Amino acid sequence: MRVLSVASEVYPLVKTGGLADVVAALPPALAREGVATRTLVPGYPGVIDALRGAQSVHAYANVHGEPARLLAAHAAGLDLLVLDAPHLYARPGNPYSGPDGKPWPDNAFRFAALAACAVSIARGVVAGFVPDIVHAHDWQAGLVPALVHYGGTPRPGTVMTVHNLAFQGQFPRELLADLGLPPHAYAVDGVEYFGTIGFLKAGLALADRITTVSPTYAAEIRTPEGGMGLDGLLRARADVLTGILNGIDDAVWNPATDVHLSVRYDRRRLAKRAANKAALQARFGLDVEPASFLLGMVSRLTLQKGLDLVADALPDIVGMGAQLAVLGSGEKALEVSLTAAAARHSGRAAIVLGYDEALAHLMQGSVDALLVPSRFEPCGLTQLCALRYGAIPIVARVGGLADTVIDANAMALTADTGTGIQFSPVTRANLLLAIGRASTLARDPALWRRLQLRAMAADVGWTHPAKQYAALFRGLAAQRSA
Ligand code: ADP
Repeated sequence: MRVLSVASEVYPLVKTGGLADVVAALPPALAREGVATRTLVPGYPGVIDALRGAQSVHAYANVHGEPARLLAAHAAGLDLLVLDAPHLYARPGNPYSGPDGKPWPDNAFRFAALAACAVSIARGVVAGFVPDIVHAHDWQAGLVPALVHYGGTPRPGTVMTVHNLAFQGQFPRELLADLGLPPHAYAVDGVEYFGTIGFLKAGLALADRITTVSPTYAAEIRTPEGGMGLDGLLRARADVLTGILNGIDDAVWNPATDVHLSVRYDRRRLAKRAANKAALQARFGLDVEPASFLLGMVSRLTLQKGLDLVADALPDIVGMGAQLAVLGSGEKALEVSLTAAAARHSGRAAIVLGYDEALAHLMQGSVDALLVPSRFEPCGLTQLCALRYGAIPIVARVGGLADTVIDANAMALTADTGTGIQFSPVTRANLLLAIGRASTLARDPALWRRLQLRAMAADVGWTHPAKQYAALFRGLAAQRSA
């Protein structure tokens, strides 16, 4: 079974969010299920720089005005195929937007080129690799199922995975022909989306299978509240839509071997974790108090993640005697309001602005509880890391957060189960109640330790999700060859 995975991010070469982690971690897990994956990504500077001994496997005479090459290389533990098109991708910084923070004006072409490249691979331009399945991730790869659909037979099976329905990729209808789409593609059952060309919409309408990254999110996106304009389509395609949870790379995220921790620990040496907490308190300029209940957040700073509620609730959080450490970057207004809120509680709350992989690890290995008060969350990875590190997740009961954290309510505790705290709906009052519940549990050290041990034993790896993807790919391939 051969799969071509098509994505715009891959950890650690280019990453803005969890998508990159998933794209990097799924292929090795699929390999253990007998599925061979090659991963097609754009040739951003961070990708090109990481390639050693890349081979040019195909030359394209004209990709939106310039020649381009397809490179093959082994990098980041993956079999990569890289579309080397400097006129489209040789730009520093964020993969989607320029220094002014605005999307690159030619994004439609940048990602249509990626999709067309995927189709050329499906047609056999890479010797010895004709995929049975093309797996498209998010809107940047959304045209893949469309171009495959309109490209005739023989064709591979197509799977569209939604990592976040909020990002949809909409472009003017006038671009239709330039994007390689036939006139009849501009239709309700094609790429048309509220008077535009919708890349994600196209993928959702025309892929053979749709997946998203948790069962609860798969249900939420079929409702008007969660569907972000696409719920009607997703309801119509419910028979081919499934939710498969993400995992995390349990070699990268392993408190027993993590070089970013001050002190490494495991389930048998959990007491050592206290030294990391002290190191983190010092690093954030918080009062170094072992007994203070230390909350952490590692997050993009956006309204999705509920950080405005945290800023609002901060006086009450501090009033409970808790501390808060935030690592994040994102929307300016939230950076400003959180920084101001933290400054009013010196020693009790602090924020580090920026993207810092090493600090993210130290936080998971230090904080007593990780806050994830997202308004919606397709899967969420930080709570999975938190479970693995014995940082008790306090999460909104939405999407993948609902599916991965077992609420430690009274009955769960009696049954010796429960791995975190859930709250719903996402309001400031409910957030505070949840933090209150957690800090009450933490006052009973034996009970808290059992909670941590259960959290750390949770299966957050890729083995089970990879089995589900492999079964889905095999089922689709069998259906197509029948
Ligand atoms: P999303 O993809 O919506 O941003 P996820 O929880 O699915 O959220 O994935 C976020 C990933 O990015 C996690 O691996 C998390 O550790 C990481 N991350 C988010 N913000 C930061 C940051 N400021 N510094 C380091 N890592 C971060």
